[in-house]
Amino acid sequence: MRKQIAAANWKMNLSYQEAETLLDEILEADIRLEFHQMAIFAVPFPYLIMSRSEVEDEMNYEVAAQNCHHKKSGAYTGEVSVDMLHSIGVNYCIVGHSERREYNAETNAMLADKVNLCLEKAITPIFCCGEPLEIREAGTQNNFVAQQLKESLFHLSAVEIKNIIIAYEPIWAIGTGKTASTAQAQEIHHYLRSVIAGKYGADIANEIPILYGGSVKAGNAKELFASPDVDGGLVGGASLIADDFIEIIKALK
Ligand code: PEP
Repeated sequence: MRKQIAAANWKMNLSYQEAETLLDEILEADIRLEFHQMAIFAVPFPYLIMSRSEVEDEMNYEVAAQNCHHKKSGAYTGEVSVDMLHSIGVNYCIVGHSERREYNAETNAMLADKVNLCLEKAITPIFCCGEPLEIREAGTQNNFVAQQLKESLFHLSAVEIKNIIIAYEPIWAIGTGKTASTAQAQEIHHYLRSVIAGKYGADIANEIPILYGGSVKAGNAKELFASPDVDGGLVGGASLIADDFIEIIKALK
C-alpha cells in the first residue's frame, strides 16, 4: 500500500517548552502506526534537533523543516540551507507552502531548485500545490495545479520523482475553516495522479503519496482520508492540539 501520512505543520507557533509538551503528549498516546503509516512534524527551525531526538526511537515518526533556501550556501543572512538540515539529520522538508509562495514570493522555478537540493541530500520534499479562490471559482484549478507540478517537479527523473510527497492544499481552505468536500479532494487528487501518470507512468504515479491540506480536523479526517487518492493530510491549526492530532493520525487508512 502507498504510504499514508499525517503531517503536522506548526508554522510560527509554540514556545520551545510548549513544543516539547505537545510532542510528548502525542508520542505517549496509544497509537500503533502500521508499516505503511507515518506521522511527520514540521516544526520551526530552532526546534528541529529537539524534535528529532524526541521521535528518534519511535517507529514511523519523523521530523520536517518547514522550508529551506533555494541556494546551496552563501551570503543569505537569516536563511537555512538544505545542507544545514542534512547535517542535523532532517529527512523531510516542506517546499512551496502557499504562505511562503505568497509572503516570500516563491516561484515555481525557485521551488524546483529547492526540490533538487533536497533530493541531492536525500531529504524528501513535501511539495505543496493548490489554487487560490478565484481560480477555483473560475473552474480552472486542474490546469493551475498541473502547471505547478510541471514547473517545479517534472524535470525530475522517474527515480527522483518517487521520492516526493505531494500536498494538495487549496488556498481558500487553509486556516479558513472551509474544507474541500471529500468529493472535491478526491477529484483533484485523482487528476493530479493522472497528470503524474501521463509523464511517468501509472506505476510510479500510484506510489506517490498525495496529502490533502486545508482545515483538516479530528472530525473530518477519517472521511477525507478514506478517499482512494487521498493519502493523509498536511495539517496546520489542528496539529497544535494533541488530542486532535492524535485523532487525525488514527484516521489514516
Ligand atoms: C497548512 O498550513 O498547511 C494548513 C493546511 O493549515 P490548516 O490545517 O490550519 O488549514
